[in-house]
Amino acid sequence: MSARILVVDDVPANVKLLEARLSAEYFDVMTAANGAEALAICRRAECDIILLDVMMPDMDGFEVCRRIKTDPATHHIPVVMVTALDSPADRIRGLEAGADDFLTKPVSDVVLIARVRSLTRLKMMTDELRMRAITSLEIGVQAPERSAVADTGKGGRILLVDDRQSSYERLATLLAAEHTVDVEPNPTEALFHAAEGNYDLLIVSLDLNNFDGLRLCSQARSLERTRHVPILAIADADNSTRLLRGLEIGVNDYLLRPVDKNELLARARTQIRRRRYTDHLRDNVQNSIEMAITDALTGLHNRRYMESHLATLAEQASTRGKPLALMILDIDYFKSINDNYGHDAGDDVLREFAVRVRKSIRGIDLACRYGGEEFVIVMPETDLHVAGMVAERLRRSIAGEPFAIHKGTKRIEVTISIGLTTLEKKGEAVADVLKRADTALYRAKHDGRNRVVSQAA
Ligand code: GH3
Ligand code: MG
Ligand code: MG
Repeated sequence: MSARILVVDDVPANVKLLEARLSAEYFDVMTAANGAEALAICRRAECDIILLDVMMPDMDGFEVCRRIKTDPATHHIPVVMVTALDSPADRIRGLEAGADDFLTKPVSDVVLIARVRSLTRLKMMTDELRMRAITSLEIGVQAPERSAVADTGKGGRILLVDDRQSSYERLATLLAAEHTVDVEPNPTEALFHAAEGNYDLLIVSLDLNNFDGLRLCSQARSLERTRHVPILAIADADNSTRLLRGLEIGVNDYLLRPVDKNELLARARTQIRRRRYTDHLRDNVQNSIEMAITDALTGLHNRRYMESHLATLAEQASTRGKPLALMILDIDYFKSINDNYGHDAGDDVLREFAVRVRKSIRGIDLACRYGGEEFVIVMPETDLHVAGMVAERLRRSIAGEPFAIHKGTKRIEVTISIGLTTLEKKGEAVADVLKRADTALYRAKHDGRNRVVSQAA
C-alpha cells in the first residue's frame, strides 16, 4: 500500500532525511519548505498524508495544521506534527490545531513507518468513502465536510476497557468532563459490550491481567459491529513494541502512562471527530444507494431496481423449481383524480396506495412503482392460486376504504385493476412474463375495472 507523503520542513537536511526513509519503504515523497507551499499542495489534493515541522519561519506548523483542518477541502488529510519539542503542552497545542499524531525528533524509523502506514490505511478508507459519497452530493445531500469542520469532538460515547480500578476510575473521571463513559473491567465481556453499545470510541488498556489487550483490539477490528469504531490504546511506557504491533492491527492511536489529562481529552476528541465524519460519509453512501433504487414519492422500489432484481428472482425460481408470481396494478381513472382534485391529491393517493400495498405483502415480495400510477409486485414461491388471493385482498383494501386527500379534509373512492401471471416455464424471459401480466391487466380494464384477471403461463 503506497501513498503520497508530503514532508514539510524549513531545514533541507531534515527534509532529506525523512524523504530517504520513506522512499526506502516505497512511499512517494513530495516536499515543501514552508507552510504556504504546503497548503497549496494540499489544496491541489496532491498528497495523502502530511509530516509537518512545527518550527518554521513565517507560518509555524500549528498554524498550517489549523488551516488544513478548517478548510473543508483539506480537513480529511491526516497531519503528523514532527517536533523537537516533546512536552504535553506542545502536543496538546498540536492536537487542538487538529493534528492526527506526533513524531518527536529524532524520529525513530520504526515508529515513523508504523504511523505512516496506519494513517495511510485510514486515508485510503476515507478516500474511498468520499468518492462514493460524491454521488449523494450531486443529488443535494448536505456535504459532511461542513459539519466535520464544525464538530468539537465532544459529547461522544466511550467504552473504557481497563481492569485496574485506580486507573479506570481516574480515566473515567477525566473523560466524563466531555463525554459519556462506560467502564468494562472484565476484558472477556468487553467485545460483547462494545458490539452492543454503539460507541464512538473504545479505549483499551494493553496492560490487562491475564488478558491480551491487543487480541481484544484485533477482534474488535474484525467484528462487523465494531470494525469502524476507533480504538485508542493505553500502555505502560515500556511497551512500545506492542504499541507498534497495535498500530499494525488497526489501533488508531495510543497514549502512554502516566496519562496526561489534556492529551487524553484531545486525542479522544480527534478520534471521535474522525469517527463521526466517516459515519456521515458512510450514511451518505448508503443514502445515495437507496435513492438510486427507490421511488421518491412512494418509497417503493423504482423501475430500474425492479428490472435488475426481477431477472435474479426469475433465475432463482427456475433453478429451485419454485413458482414466481407477478402482478401489474394500475389505478383506475387516475387521470380524472388529478383533473378533479388536483395533482397534489393524485400524489396523496399514490402515497397512501403504497402504504396499503406494503401492508398486504410479505417481506420477501418485491413491490415497485413501475410508472406513473402503475405498480408491479413480484412474489417468490407463490403459485397463481395463492397470488390470486393476495391480489384480490389488495384490490379490496383499496376499494374498501376511501382515500384521504386535501390534508384529510376530503375522502375519495379509488379502485385498481390487476393483471396477474406466473413464471412457470424454466428460463422464460422476464419480458414475456411482464407482457402476459400486462395483457391480463388490459383485460381487467376492458371488463370493467376494479377487478383481478389471472393469466396462466
Ligand atoms: P385507466 O383506468 O385506464 O388506467 O385510466 P387512467 O386515467 O388511470 O390512466 P392514464 O394512463 O390515462 O392516466 C394516468 C395519469 O397518471 C396520467 C398522469 O398525469 C398521471 N400521473 C402519472 N404520474 C403521476 C404522479 O406522480 N402524480 C400524479 N398526481 N399523477 C401522475
Ligand atoms: Mg390507470
Ligand atoms: Mg396507466
